[in-house]
Amino acid sequence: MSTYFAHVIGGKEVDSLDGARFDTVNPWTREAWAEVALGDRADAEAAVTAARTAFDDGPWPRLGYGERQRLLHRLADLMEANADELAAADSHDMGKPLAQCHHDVARAALNFRFFADHAKMATAEVLPMDSGHHAYTRFDPAGVVVAIAPWNFPLMLETWKVAPALAWGNTVVLKPAEDTPTSATILARLATEAGLPDGVFNVVHGYGHSVGAALTGDPRVDRITFTGETGTGKTISAAAAQNLTPVSLELGGKNCNIVFADAELDNAVHWSIQSIFRNAGQICLSGSRLFVQRPILDEFVKRFVAAAEAMTFGDPLDPATEFGPLASEQHFEKVKGYVESVEQYGGRMLTGGLGDGWFVKPTVLVDMPLDSPHVQEEIFGPVVVIHPFDSEDEVVDLANESVYGLDAQVFTEDLHTAHRVSARLEVGTVWVNCFFIRDLRAPFGGVGASGVGREGGNFSREFFTEPKAVIMQITGKPS
Ligand code: NAD
Repeated sequence: MSTYFAHVIGGKEVDSLDGARFDTVNPWTREAWAEVALGDRADAEAAVTAARTAFDDGPWPRLGYGERQRLLHRLADLMEANADELAAADSHDMGKPLAQCHHDVARAALNFRFFADHAKMATAEVLPMDSGHHAYTRFDPAGVVVAIAPWNFPLMLETWKVAPALAWGNTVVLKPAEDTPTSATILARLATEAGLPDGVFNVVHGYGHSVGAALTGDPRVDRITFTGETGTGKTISAAAAQNLTPVSLELGGKNCNIVFADAELDNAVHWSIQSIFRNAGQICLSGSRLFVQRPILDEFVKRFVAAAEAMTFGDPLDPATEFGPLASEQHFEKVKGYVESVEQYGGRMLTGGLGDGWFVKPTVLVDMPLDSPHVQEEIFGPVVVIHPFDSEDEVVDLANESVYGLDAQVFTEDLHTAHRVSARLEVGTVWVNCFFIRDLRAPFGGVGASGVGREGGNFSREFFTEPKAVIMQITGKPS
């Protein structure tokens, strides 16, 4: 195996200090396809040192919004020019269909363009005061940002953090997930080619318990932005608390998808399928609890099951493939446990089950007790539980009956139902008659066990800067 991906620290591709490496496995072939530097605490510390030096002594925080905007657009240009390599890296690492990886690369490049422009165009409030003063707000870069990412949208979610952090003048250490490390090294190479100064964007590979723990416990770090499991979020929160480092946490979900009887059925079926089976259900936003109003239950289920069975799964590199294997053997084993225990909890599988290799077919469950793990826990696979409901009040109660609160989908043709239910759902995002559509200015994040804080637009600015009030005496008559 000749393909190798190093850390990128201080603008250079470097091996681990102890020379250690690990294999990254392609879930479709179930064979290693590349080697990656396996970092440890010392490599994490070296990356923070590089980012600290670049922030304290380097040009980046002082460069100005316009110059940073120019360089980040150049990076986005290079990402688009190298889309094939970036998309293939994510597809090989996690088994996601290549066509969807291309979509992710396009969104990742857009993240850089959006946040570069947003920082350049942003305005800050001036508050005229009756006392003959005015107050205004500055948004100065926070310092060194640690970004820790999951494996389900590797490049896309990494850039969701890295782009605003850089645009606002911070320096960054990114730790990608150990299952999907390779696109991060490619991104850092492109950042160097784009002309970002050394140490502004660093990538260090390794496991959470070693590299991740070292990064999140380092007192030289000014912000930690994390996306991943709720349990990991709690561990990171505890580590960050030791240094009072502000943390943004985007965590798990067990999201509700509510289909009212007046919904436009084709549209509801289409988006409900996308919501739970896209990316083999490995989406934090998945509508894994599907509530259908009783008058349309039979018709909806018939169409939904037919659409699930029509999905094409197989080789991620085949353009016709909609659905790949699960991202790792460990994850496959976890999802398999839920699939194999359906009857034990008194439920029924209408379609789906285990496939070859690490595949789980689109799986539709009914009659699952509300307190079963299938209804309560995030499976993070292509497994949906359908429940009937009668009234709006009943479904709102059912939907809110979760420790999670990331997002919800509501399908109805009634404007008033849509607004009322959206207001009552305890979640960070509601999609009405659609799914997965994003506006990068909008807040993104979760309620309860789904996260702490919001990112996106000005919400990212608040997190990645130190907002400062300056109060000026403006009358020339000291009071
Ligand atoms: P994970 O929590 O296992 O790992 C995420 C990252 O955290 C990895 O890079 C891992 O190495 C690192 N990590 C693990 N332990 C650590 C520690 N002690 N200290 C520091 N870092 C540590 O999550 P995952 O399995 O990679 O991703 C799937 C999860 O992510 C699901 O729960 C999913 O819902 C969630 N997710 C949430 C969002 C969102 O926006 N809310 C988006 C995507 C995924």
